[in-house]
Amino acid sequence: MAQGLRLVLFGPPGAGKGTQAQLLRDSLKVTHISSGDLFRHHLGQGTELGLRAKEYMNKGELVPDEVTIDIILDKILSVSDEEGFILDGFPRNPHQAEELEKALNGKSRNIDKVVHIEVSEPELLRRLGGRYVCRACQAPHALGEGEDAASKKCDQCCGELYQRDDDGPEAVKKRIEVYNKETMPVLGFYRERGVLADIPGDNTVEQVNKQVMEALGA
Ligand code: AMP
Repeated sequence: MAQGLRLVLFGPPGAGKGTQAQLLRDSLKVTHISSGDLFRHHLGQGTELGLRAKEYMNKGELVPDEVTIDIILDKILSVSDEEGFILDGFPRNPHQAEELEKALNGKSRNIDKVVHIEVSEPELLRRLGGRYVCRACQAPHALGEGEDAASKKCDQCCGELYQRDDDGPEAVKKRIEVYNKETMPVLGFYRERGVLADIPGDNTVEQVNKQVMEALGA
């Protein structure tokens, strides 16, 4: 049986990781694991985990490792070797990357590729300010000129669109700061392992998708 791809999509908030992950999930038939979506799901259900995560998410800070790592690793380890996975939003600091590597070594095969989507800060701010997310399936949407969230429905499932609390200006500023300080060092970790591919992410969704597929040799 062929082994499924093990991919990390890496990049700042607003780089388009979620959008690219959905395209890759549909074309490559691998499982999409988004740590942010998982926390938002728990938040929507009002679980203890959701309430704990909310304090950090709304401020644009990382949810502590002792809350995050076990729950995401459990999800990752539940995916079969044949199916493979795309990680979106995890790992987000070097400790998470080390714990992921340890967990996968138990499966004797590590991450195949880390695709780093690079986007300039002004473009990130522009995108996050106009980003709406589906309440049901979490698909991200950019509203076109003259469109408003109340009258537009999710492209994928017709769900209601809303603006995330942490897409407000203060939280966005903090999230970019946290990315630069805590998440960027993860790039060095994967560069050393020879699995990193850098992709310019200022282009259209289709162009970025093409470049990601090329980086994967797909
Ligand atoms: P995202 O949807 O990936 O932008 O994540 C939204 C928020 O969820 C982040 O700003 C963090 O508060 C939290 N979060 C998501 N993934 C992680 C992670 N790997 N480690 C810690 N916090 C995370």
